[in-house]
Amino acid sequence: MKQMENKMISKWQADDTRPVLRFSPYAWAKLLYFRDKGRTEIGGFGITETNDLLYITDFITVKQNVTSISVSFDDNAVADFFEAQVDFGRKPQQFARIWCHTHPGDSPEPSLTDEDTFKRVFGHCDWAVMFVLAQDDSAYARLSFNTGPKAQIMLPVRVDYSKEFNGTELPIWEKDFKENIQPIVFTTAAAGLDKSKQLSLLQLYVVSKNGTKEVHF
Ligand SMILES: [Zn+2]
Repeated sequence: MKQMENKMISKWQADDTRPVLRFSPYAWAKLLYFRDKGRTEIGGFGITETNDLLYITDFITVKQNVTSISVSFDDNAVADFFEAQVDFGRKPQQFARIWCHTHPGDSPEPSLTDEDTFKRVFGHCDWAVMFVLAQDDSAYARLSFNTGPKAQIMLPVRVDYSKEFNGTELPIWEKDFKENIQPIVFTTAAAGLDKSKQLSLLQLYVVSKNGTKEVHF
């Protein structure tokens, strides 16, 4: 039988020259929970230990607007997250270098929007990782070195089941999901309007925990 800890999730295989992006069973379970709870992309940061920067021990979300093809973090929420992590004694390379997000479809390939976001948000870091997990468990991980002789390295991905698993924290995850994940639904079906207006009016619904907020533009 195939050993679970050797299961490669991305198409890239490990070799002596290629580092592996690894997830703890806890971080992996949490990521899958968020992916499967909604029907949109979900994004967050991978948290690592100081001496093992490609071993993700937690996946933390911040307040974000999401659609089936995009994730947009709230700037203030990101600032709060960074501050809390520093207070916790972590260094930026442990919490602000690995961008994880899910795709509701079966392709983990990054979109052009993903590439733009990665460049815009993480391009100033000396290094960063873009990790994408699709609905069928296929994954994409790329390590980007942004200074010196710039380079991109595709990373194999693995869940490291040799590490201890202290179980899930469903009540906390559920609370985070409700507070942070805000789906944006686009619709042109505006009731009570004539056809020309229906075609010209795009309604944006921002669903929040406080109910449904409707914005016209
Ligand atoms: Zn994406």
